[in-house]
Amino acid sequence: MSIYVISHTNPDTDSIVGSIALTYLKNQLGEDCIAIRQGIISPETEFVLNKFGGVAPELKTSVSGEKIYLVDFGDLAQSPSDIKEATILGIVDHHKLGDLTTDTPLECWIRPVGSSNTIVKEMFDSYHIEIPKDLAGMMMCAILSDTVIFKSPTCTKEDTKAVKELAKIAGIEDFKALGMEMFIVKSALEGATARDLLTRDYKQFDMNGTPVGIGQLEVVDLKIFDDKKAMLFEDMKKMKEEANLHSVALLLTDIMIEGSQLLVVSDDESKFESAFNVTLENHEAWLNKVLSRKKQVIPFLQPQF
Ligand code: MG
Ligand code: MG
Ligand code: MG
Repeated sequence: MSIYVISHTNPDTDSIVGSIALTYLKNQLGEDCIAIRQGIISPETEFVLNKFGGVAPELKTSVSGEKIYLVDFGDLAQSPSDIKEATILGIVDHHKLGDLTTDTPLECWIRPVGSSNTIVKEMFDSYHIEIPKDLAGMMMCAILSDTVIFKSPTCTKEDTKAVKELAKIAGIEDFKALGMEMFIVKSALEGATARDLLTRDYKQFDMNGTPVGIGQLEVVDLKIFDDKKAMLFEDMKKMKEEANLHSVALLLTDIMIEGSQLLVVSDDESKFESAFNVTLENHEAWLNKVLSRKKQVIPFLQPQF
C-alpha cells in the first residue's frame, strides 16, 4: 500500500514542493510514496512547477485508513477532516508544534528554519541521496518564497546555505532574480475573485479555543490592492460568518518596503490593537517590518485570546 505525502490546506509553494521532494527522497529510500494535495495550486507554485518541469501532486482530501507523512504543517486546522483515521508516519515542518497527536511513534523533522524545503534538503544530505537538477530548482524557489528572498525574520543561515547549494545543483546563477520573477507572478491579481485572494495563503488558527482566520498576500507593490480593499473586506465578513470565526484578518505584505497592511474583521478589534500596539482606522493598520505571519503575527495575537 502506498504512503501519502501531504501538504497543508490552501497549499503554498513550500508545502507542494516539499511534498514532491520528500516523496522523491522516500522513494529513493525504498518507501512507496505518493505526493497529494488538499487544494488548488497557486499561480506562484504553478510558475515554479512549469519552470522546472514539475508535476502537481494529485488532489486527495480524504486520508482515512492511509499511512501519511505531513509536510509544512502539524495542526488539525490544516489537515484533511478525517486525519484522525490515518496513521501519521512522520512530520517535516518549521511551524510551532500544533495540536495533532498520534497513536504510534513517528519520525519528526521539525526545526525553526525559514522553509520546510531547507529541512528536506538536510534530509537528502543526511541520507547521502543526490537531488536531481530540476527538483533542486524547485526546492530553491520554495525556500526563496517562504523566506521572502531572505528578507523574512524567519530566514536562517541554514536557509541561505541550502539555497546556494540548490542553486549550484540547478545551475542557476542569479537566484535572487528568479526569486523576484516568482514574486511578480505571485503579485498578479488578474481574474482572481475576493475569495481566491483571501484564501490563497489562508490559515485558520485555534487561539486558545477561539477560531481566527488569517490570510496573507505577499506582493511587490501594495497599490494593486487600492481598488480591491472594499471587495476584500466584504468577503472577509462573509468568511467570518460562514466559518463562525471570531476574527478574519488579512495581511497585505509589501516585500519591497517590508511591512504589512493589516485588514481586520473581528468581534473585538481591540485584540489586534493590543497585539500589535496600533490603532485600527477603518479596520486597517500598517505593521512596519512585519513580513512573517508565523513569527511576527501569531505569537503576538494568540496571547490576546
Ligand atoms: Mg506553508
Ligand atoms: Mg513553509
Ligand atoms: Mg509561507
